[in-house]
This record gives sequence, structure tokens and C-alpha cells, in this order.
Amino acid sequence: MHPNEAPPSATNYFLPDEPANRYANQALARLRSGGLSPLPQYFELWYAYYAQTHLEVVRALDTLLAQAQPITEAQCEGIHQLFLSEEKRSDSVREAGVRIEATISGVSQQVELARSATQRFSATLQTASGKLDASNVPLALQSTLRALLDDTSQMLAHNRALEEALAQSTLAMQALGRDLDAVRKQAVTDSLTSLANRQAFDTELARLSNAPAQARFSLVMFDIDHFKGFNDTYGHPVGDEVLRLVARTLGQGVRAGDLAARYGGEEFAILLPDTDLHSATMLANALRARVESMSLVRRKNGDKLGRLTLSGGVAQSALGEIGGNVLARADAALYVAKNSGRNRIEASAVA
Ligand code: GH3
Ligand code: MG
Ligand code: MG
Repeated sequence: MHPNEAPPSATNYFLPDEPANRYANQALARLRSGGLSPLPQYFELWYAYYAQTHLEVVRALDTLLAQAQPITEAQCEGIHQLFLSEEKRSDSVREAGVRIEATISGVSQQVELARSATQRFSATLQTASGKLDASNVPLALQSTLRALLDDTSQMLAHNRALEEALAQSTLAMQALGRDLDAVRKQAVTDSLTSLANRQAFDTELARLSNAPAQARFSLVMFDIDHFKGFNDTYGHPVGDEVLRLVARTLGQGVRAGDLAARYGGEEFAILLPDTDLHSATMLANALRARVESMSLVRRKNGDKLGRLTLSGGVAQSALGEIGGNVLARADAALYVAKNSGRNRIEASAVA
């Protein structure tokens, strides 16, 4: 079933005219008709499905729906865990990092204020003590003053120690922050090619297509031609090397605001904000030609490898069109390119 069709016997719990209300209604109706408990995580999962915010979720649930057996709570739990809860964890880790940094910086400011106040106090005491030394002041008062000066310099020493400890903590926090950044980066990066991964692509696609003032964007899907044969001939490690090369070529061939990603296996996808179908097709063709013209040479012995080609499908989003639909149209165009002889780009008719 397509996510945008309402499940049977939908009950309207919210006003129906906002897309968010529609997705919420669909999610609740699905919980009811599927006999699933109305727990937040199941609602979130089915909301994500109908709103198509996470294409992985759509794919996983579509696969289950196609099996024509009731979907169990355990299955919902599993898909939620896999695709929705991890993201939340990294969000809360990010927030915790920001809060700790803010606290450290607040405490540092307070210590700095205390230090300068103590320094001023010490200076005043020292001036007073100098003046008192010169005049005829009773010894008792002089010794009290000295005791005060001693205490003040001890306070200054303590403050300095505190400042040092805080500086150390700040350094440790910054290191933690860098670790967090690295983990966050890892979560959205494909480990073989270092391009953005499918998760990053899906997130960006959802962001572009859900933006309140949605601007139109284009999407290119590439698939390497006959890559299985390439692997069979030259071996998997050479295939991996070639995937890196293609990734580099695509990554370097797009502008700063575009997103090139390894969508999976030997498939690559590019998101092009504010780009029309014609320009996107031109770019896809230029990238296709660049890959075709590469002369592949085996590193270890200089042997020439066979030519490598890409097929591609391009689609431009229609206003209000859901991201998953644009992706499906690019995919369908790619399928046409494959069936029309490969090493070519096909554009999806304007939706
Ligand atoms: P087509 O032109 O129809 O796309 O043919 P194809 O052989 O490329 O398509 P198919 O989907 O049958 O095979 C894809 C192959 O891509 C299968 C696998 O050998 C290869 N592949 C997928 N991921 C990797 C990877 O990470 N490394 C390597 N070396 N090969 C991969
Ligand atoms: Mg493929
Ligand atoms: Mg292929």
C-alpha cells in the first residue's frame, strides 16, 4: 500500500486539512486497525511512515505490509529501534554537550569575576598597609592587617588553582566535543567512500521536501553499469577502489550546497537544491561522461582495466511533492536508462 493512502476505517482525531493532521490521523487509524497498542513509539513509527520522513522506515514497513500478515508490536519495536531511536540518542548527546559547555563557560566567568574582585581587595589592603606602616599605628592593628593580607593572598592562590582546574575541564570538554563531532560525522558518512551515506541523504531529502516554503530541487540516481561483472573480473578489492574513485568524481563534481551520497552498493544519489530538471540532467550527463572517460589502471601492476560507465535517472520535485516520490521517479528514470542500453541519463517527465 502507498503511504499516502489512508488505511481502512480511518477515524478523524484532528482537523484534516494540515498534512501533519493527516499523517497523525493515518498513524492512529493504522494502530487501531492493526490492533497495535497506542504507545508513543508505535505512533511515531507510523507517523514517520505516512509523512515519509524516514525512507528506511517506509521501505521496512512496506516490505512487511507486502507480506499480507498482521504487523506485530515486536516488528514495530524493532524498526523503531533501528531507524528512529538512534537519531534521538545522538540528539540528546548533542544537547548535553551544548549544556555542559554553557555551564563551564558560566562558571569560568564567575571565577574570573571573583579573581579580579580579590585582586582589587588585595591591592587596597596593600596600599592601606603601606600607609599604616609609615604612620604611628598601634602594633595590634598592623598585625591584624598583615593577617588579612596573608589570607587574601591565600584566596588568590586558591582562585588561581580553581582557574587552572577549570581550564583543564574546558580542555577535556573540548576534546569530548570533538569526539562527539567525530561520532556524529561517522553516523552520516559512508565508511568505504567517505561520501555522505544513505541516512544523510534521506534526512536531507526529507528536509528539502518538508521545508515550509518548499523550493523545488532535483535528484539524480546513478548506478554503475555491469558492476557485478567488473567485480567478477578484477576482484572485490579493485571494485572497492573503483567505488572510491567514482565517489570522489561525483563529490568533486557538485557545488557546495549540493549533496552527493553513496545510496548503497554501487548506487549513488545527488540532491541539487534550486536546480531545474534541465540543469540537473546536464550535470548528470557531464558526470556520466567524466566517469566514462576515466582510464582505470590497476595500481599494483599498471594493467589497464575495462571501461566503467554509469546510468542515471533525474527527477525534479513538483511543488508539495513528497521526497520519497521524487526518489521513486528518479529511480524509474534510471530503470529506463538501464533498459535503453546503459551509459545514459534519462529524465523523469515533470510530475
Ligand atoms: P546493472 O548494469 O544492471 O546495474 O548491473 P550490475 O551488475 O551493476 O547490477 P547488480 O545489482 O546485479 O549488481 C551490483 C553489484 O555491485 C553486486 C556487487 O558485486 C557490487 N557491489 C555492491 N556493493 C559493493 C561494494 O561495496 N564493493 C564492491 N566491490 N562491489 C559491490
Ligand atoms: Mg544496482
Ligand atoms: Mg549496477
